[in-house]
Amino acid sequence: MKWFARLWKKVSEHKTAHGEPLYLYIQCEKCGEKLKVLVKKETDLERVYEEEKGGSAYRLIKEAMDSKCFSIITVRAEFDINKDIISRDISNGRFITEEEYLS
Ligand SMILES: [Zn+2]
Repeated sequence: MKWFARLWKKVSEHKTAHGEPLYLYIQCEKCGEKLKVLVKKETDLERVYEEEKGGSAYRLIKEAMDSKCFSIITVRAEFDINKDIISRDISNGRFITEEEYLS
């Protein structure tokens, strides 16, 4: 039944790569407001076809407005062909962990 185990692995990997929503936790640089931003991998990522040149396969540019001082926080992230983040960048804010967001 080895083939079955392999097949199952493939199916479950596919699921995590495309099915689960991705959350980014960010904090406003000015007022410290914490934000949770949902990234829908199916619709938010833009295909850029740069992976053959050593670049990214997908790109995300997401703007979030915090509800305290109304700064626009811009997140840019690069993704590989499996839609995993390979690099990310932020302006007007900083990335925080889920733990920091909840505390
Ligand atoms: Zn703010």
